[in-house]
Amino acid sequence: IHAEMTRLERLNLVGQMAASIGHEIRNPMTAVRGYLQLLGAKPEFQSHRSTFGTLISELDRANAIISEFLSLAKNTSTQRECQNINDILRNLYPLLEADTFTQNKQIVFKAGETPDIPLNAKEISQLVLNLCRNGLEAMEERGTLTIRTYTEDGQVVLSVQDEGTGIPTEYLDKLGTPFFTTKENGTGLGLATCYGIADRHNARLDVESDPNGTTFFVRFPGLATNH
Ligand code: ADP
Ligand code: MG
Repeated sequence: IHAEMTRLERLNLVGQMAASIGHEIRNPMTAVRGYLQLLGAKPEFQSHRSTFGTLISELDRANAIISEFLSLAKNTSTQRECQNINDILRNLYPLLEADTFTQNKQIVFKAGETPDIPLNAKEISQLVLNLCRNGLEAMEERGTLTIRTYTEDGQVVLSVQDEGTGIPTEYLDKLGTPFFTTKENGTGLGLATCYGIADRHNARLDVESDPNGTTFFVRFPGLATNH
């Protein structure tokens, strides 16, 4: 039998490579950032303050990209265990709320009745976190982010709804393409990670969006079809 790599194996390999490269790149970057901060604070560079600021924030952006890659790497080889999605969400909730602490935004969790299904808690947490961060970022001033779980046609559904500005139709096709971002400090890896996680759970990730907000749906296969 031809030993072709599966999609998952390729993703694993990419993840492992990203992890080692990521760690190696981070160390010199930390050093550069430190020296930039030191230099930028000197009186003779007073007139270049904003340039130093830009350099540092670009370094931080590169660092954020590496972080997302690292979390991708960590999650690829882990196992799924039969459990309730609501338990995962309840554990994650304090972390999500912390994201809204200084803002006029709130997160509401409406837990419906759902059967236990095979889930990787770390990956599902990462997926929800990524969707929620996007939702919060899409709401400029204020708004409510609603997380729901329910059962529909035998499928466990998780939805994350925001009251943001929506996704322009021309961007819908690009969602999940690595590095696609419309944000100045975005990495464009959040949704790519989400699609990967959904894929590994045999789940579908769908989006509905209009100028009043966006809802992402994750539909897990029903128990009868999920082995
Ligand atoms: P990032 O958040 O770093 O930009 P993502 O992969 O998480 O990368 O998202 C990619 C792009 O998809 C975002 O830049 C944004 O344009 C769009 N997007 C994702 N989620 C939402 C949302 N809830 N509302 C509006 N736009 C969104
Ligand atoms: Mg994001």
